[in-house]
Amino acid sequence: MPTHHHCDLAILGGGLAGGLIALALAERRPELSLQLVEAGERFGGNHLWSFFDSDVAAGDRWILEPVVGHRWQGYDVAFPGHARTLDAAYNSVESERLDAVLRAALPAEALLTGRRVLEASATGVVLDDGARIEAGAVIDCRGPGDLSLLKCGWQKFVGQELVLERPHGHTRPTVMDARVEQLDGYRFVYCLPLAPDRMFVEDTYYSDGPEIDAAVLRERIRAYAEGQGWRIAEVAREERGVLPVAFGGDFDSYWSSTPPVAKAGMRAGLFHPLTGYSLPDAVRMASAVAAAPDLSAAALAELTHGLARTTWGERGFYRMLTAMLFRAAKPEARYRVLERFYRLDAGLIGRFYAGRSNWTDKARVLAGKPPVPVARAIRAIWDMQAGGREKRT
Ligand SMILES: Cc1cc2nc3c(=O)[nH]c(=O)nc-3n(C[C@H](O)[C@H](O)[C@H](O)COP(=O)(O)OP(=O)(O)OC[C@H]3O[C@@H](n4cnc5c(N)ncnc54)[C@H](O)[C@@H]3O)c2cc1C
Repeated sequence: MPTHHHCDLAILGGGLAGGLIALALAERRPELSLQLVEAGERFGGNHLWSFFDSDVAAGDRWILEPVVGHRWQGYDVAFPGHARTLDAAYNSVESERLDAVLRAALPAEALLTGRRVLEASATGVVLDDGARIEAGAVIDCRGPGDLSLLKCGWQKFVGQELVLERPHGHTRPTVMDARVEQLDGYRFVYCLPLAPDRMFVEDTYYSDGPEIDAAVLRERIRAYAEGQGWRIAEVAREERGVLPVAFGGDFDSYWSSTPPVAKAGMRAGLFHPLTGYSLPDAVRMASAVAAAPDLSAAALAELTHGLARTTWGERGFYRMLTAMLFRAAKPEARYRVLERFYRLDAGLIGRFYAGRSNWTDKARVLAGKPPVPVARAIRAIWDMQAGGREKRT
């Protein structure tokens, strides 16, 4: 006989967005009963999520504090013609830790793993074992909707946590090392010194297609490590990602591509158009949900739709830059766009990643001798805007 669950709020998908909403509610609204439903055997999947301090409002840091596992002061970038150390603090969250913190913060009966959601409505959920959840409200956090409705390029990567035979001697992350051979678009290597003898090394591409040949990328990680003089004792963990970077598309169609309920995370279109990163938006959403005076299904749908739609509307500038990167710059010359960007003011760079660029920042990003041909840039922006209008009509 399938079980029936009753709760105030059912959170569908225990990844980053769903997990942070559950943690925020457990902390600020302990009187609410929750059901967090995750298809995988553990919450969070297999990820290392990173963010700058400046990505998250000071008033929202409490949401991330329990899950941050690594923190560094300052980071490096390196390009063929320019290298720099920036002072911003950088943090990483391991999905294993998100899983452990969720299990400690919520009662066991609130956590359902290894269960797939088959159907979702504003107040009801059907699971793959026939169980049903009746909820005051449902929020869908099951990862991306129909990305074919957006105009996207891809940020794709394979990352490996390398255990080294000897200490590497690095104390700061290298967020971009673009001194590597430029292949399949803009290529860079990303390195996080997780411990004196552990380095997370990710081979990353800003590419037109989503395909990954993991074996080839693994070999490039090995070659990069060798070039740094790092002798690999063991590969402790591996992750891979293919993230959309958006240069156009229609928000309303994307939102409607998944069930008509409240949404958060990638499912709500909440990601930075140029980096594909969603952690800062996931924190903002968790904070807004925890502070909402009314968590009825209608109120939650309105809150999440409003926040997602406004955020999408405010991000036209980043979609335009993504269009310039993908459509105006030749793939092998894309690195120049980032090389130039990293010569700009550190405060501007921080606001850019946080999705909070002001008008002066935007003017400075666009000013000067452009690293892409002007005629191609204008055509790219025109295509992007025409794409957005076509879909709306
Ligand atoms: C390897 C990797 C590294 C990344 N690193 C960063 C980073 O450093 N910083 C950053 O900001 N962003 C990063 N991103 C991008 C983005 O932030 C992540 O993809 C983020 O996990 C998206 O959050 P989400 O909650 O929307 O989706 P997810 O975290 O993918 O969560 C969705 C969850 O829903 C579950 N699910 C799906 N369907 C069902 C179903 N039918 N029933 C039940 N459960 C279901 C999935 O199993 C999954 O756990 C990374 C992405 C990847 C893939």
